[in-house]
Amino acid sequence: MNTDKLSKRLETVAKYIPKNAKFADIGSDHAYLPCYMVKKSDVRFAIAGEVVEGPFQSAVKQVKQEGFTSKISVRKGNGLEVIEPNEVDCITIAGMGGTLIATILENGKAKLGAVQRLILQPNISASSIREWLLTNGWTLIAEEILEEDGKIYEVLVAEKGNPYSLYKANKESALLFGPFLMREKNTAFVKKWTIEKKNWQRILTQLESAPESVENSLKRKELQGKIKLVDEVIKNEEY
Ligand code: SAM
Repeated sequence: MNTDKLSKRLETVAKYIPKNAKFADIGSDHAYLPCYMVKKSDVRFAIAGEVVEGPFQSAVKQVKQEGFTSKISVRKGNGLEVIEPNEVDCITIAGMGGTLIATILENGKAKLGAVQRLILQPNISASSIREWLLTNGWTLIAEEILEEDGKIYEVLVAEKGNPYSLYKANKESALLFGPFLMREKNTAFVKKWTIEKKNWQRILTQLESAPESVENSLKRKELQGKIKLVDEVIKNEEY
């Protein structure tokens, strides 16, 4: 990957960054996304935030090499602490677990005042992000699911607003699968949930032959519930 051509995953994130945005990419590693956006002249200003020294130095180096130091500020720090209030109108967080992304948003709530759009790409547990958005007055405006190099990724795009209509019917399913994604049911979606279901079924079989306990029984119920949700949503679909 380089800053002329992003991975399909990051390209999908980039697609949702509004023209002329001032955006912060949190967990930016090599700052590929900010560099790509500045190269396209699509954004006014970008912040590349990184908490770990190695990736932070990679970002500093990349931005210098590209000659973008006046347009991209590389900052070291945890989550949204690298942003000043009202400094950006869009935030991207990509390539981490959904629980970590939700924690970053929760801890950085005070910095979200002027932010109009969040573009979030969890590698796992997108449902943790949907829960956070729902609780905090952000509504999904788009979702994508895609496969690249044998891995399946989700991209969630949210703006401030009332999310309740998205979850009016089937709240449990919509949080797990994504209200847009479960309507579209593309090949990557069907593949992801078919694989997850097989995985849960394997664990369920193991639990069924393990000694009985309250914990075991609760876990079995949870898995049976999730398998039922998958069966309802992908019914006769195949990939
Ligand atoms: N965003 C890039 C992408 O999608 O290709 C890099 C993804 S990389 C797997 C995740 C990066 O997030 C790592 O460089 C890690 O150091 C950084 N990170 C993890 N937790 C963070 C946090 N709380 N604040 C800032 N960066 C964080």
